[in-house]
Amino acid sequence: MTQRLHIVGGGMAGSEAAWQAAEAGIPVVIHEMRPKVETFAHRTGDLAEMVCSNSFRSDDHEQNAVGLLHWEMLQAGGLVMRQAYTHRLPAGGALAVDRDAFSAGVTQVLRDHPNVSVSDEEITELPEDGQWIFATGPLTSSALGAAIARETGADALAFFDAIAPIVYFDSIDMDVAWLQSRYDKGETEEERKAYINCPMTKPQYEAFIDALLAADKTAFHEGETAGYFDGCLPIEVMAERGRETLRHGPMKPIGLTNSHKPEEKAYAVVQLRRDNALGTLYNIVGFQTKMKYGAQTEVFRMIPGLEEAKFARLGGIHRNTFLNSPTLLDAQMRLRSKPNIRFAGQITGVEGYVESSAMGLAAGRMAAAEILGRPLPEIPQDTAHGALIHHITGGAEAKTFQPMNVNFGLFRPVDGLKGGRRGRKDRYKAYTDRAKAEWTGWLATQEVPA
Ligand SMILES: Cc1cc2nc3c(=O)[nH]c(=O)nc-3n(C[C@H](O)[C@H](O)[C@H](O)COP(=O)(O)OP(=O)(O)OC[C@H]3O[C@@H](n4cnc5c(N)ncnc54)[C@H](O)[C@@H]3O)c2cc1C
Repeated sequence: MTQRLHIVGGGMAGSEAAWQAAEAGIPVVIHEMRPKVETFAHRTGDLAEMVCSNSFRSDDHEQNAVGLLHWEMLQAGGLVMRQAYTHRLPAGGALAVDRDAFSAGVTQVLRDHPNVSVSDEEITELPEDGQWIFATGPLTSSALGAAIARETGADALAFFDAIAPIVYFDSIDMDVAWLQSRYDKGETEEERKAYINCPMTKPQYEAFIDALLAADKTAFHEGETAGYFDGCLPIEVMAERGRETLRHGPMKPIGLTNSHKPEEKAYAVVQLRRDNALGTLYNIVGFQTKMKYGAQTEVFRMIPGLEEAKFARLGGIHRNTFLNSPTLLDAQMRLRSKPNIRFAGQITGVEGYVESSAMGLAAGRMAAAEILGRPLPEIPQDTAHGALIHHITGGAEAKTFQPMNVNFGLFRPVDGLKGGRRGRKDRYKAYTDRAKAEWTGWLATQEVPA
């Protein structure tokens, strides 16, 4: 009988790993502690729950490294990407989804799979034998975190992350706000009107910044230092970096025309993005925050159009756990000291839903190949998956290791291309063309002959 693969954590990475291994014929048990044991951010007992934004980011597979990961996962029959496309919402060039329908879809496919079973228990130790993938994410339970720290001899690293609030659509004043994607981006009318925009005059913006700076914030515990996802800085931290920072970041007014007052140019604009297929919920884009709840409602209601806003969820801050993978994991994502254990997902030091799912895909295929005794050729470094794996398992500087989004900086240069801004489009296209060819070749090595 084929050996069983145990996967701890049924989030983005664990779900994808389970799917890949199950499709390869391996019996898989997913150990997911929710809903028995909860985390700070998850709300349901579903697999692959999206804890904050409902976006898988850019879907441009020619000019964007995240879009390239989408493409690679789709080619590999990835469950997360397939379900994302099935439950896609209009969002300009981004791949945004109805979060509940998406996780329900992943959950159903896995629960219906004859090779998959799901057990709702918390795993608190690193087992001595059997084949295991630990994909317990940034909110790994504390008992397991302690077991990992005991085994690795190092404290699991931690940094802080914040989430953005969600507003009920029917509490937004659409006589003030209007629907439009930046630069009217999108192929359909729905796409071109995917965002709600709230305009601010200069005095309103200045008052808003003052309120942000003065608001009560969650304090860090003694001994904890604050570090954040670079792409996910709390707005008040951005405001502290300079009064204009937000106007050049999430509140930039460019590419937008107020349909109520086309002649008036807004000084700043707050954007909200649809959060569910029904269109009843909208999240405030880029407004992750560590302000205290009372302060949040007060400050966010200063935004024109949100004076009467009702919040389905307020923002918040949490601890994020990840391994020092360059020292602890081998190129197969196995723990060097216990090679029967692989890690996958955000805990390996990648960052984001897409990257985490991609690491689940890789770990699932690696574990399946090991169980089946079929050597798996190394994932080519010039693919998006390979670039990330190479980074976390050795390419990154271990001393300063921090979670990483996929980006073209992780790719080896393509010879003979111009540097600088002018050559950028050609360069990115060359990276993605090369990656696609390499990924296609790698997938072909695993095709079972008919
Ligand atoms: C609050 C917050 C906001 C975020 N916002 C974004 C965002 O907007 N966009 C983005 O791309 N990424 C965001 N991230 C990162 C996001 O969590 C990851 O990108 C992605 O969900 C990680 O996938 P994962 O599979 O590694 O972990 P998760 O999806 O978190 O899955 C881990 C699973 O393991 C389970 N688990 C934990 N410990 C145990 C245990 N001991 N036994 C059994 N099960 C266990 C958990 O219940 C969970 O279901 C955010 C993370 C957090 C925490």
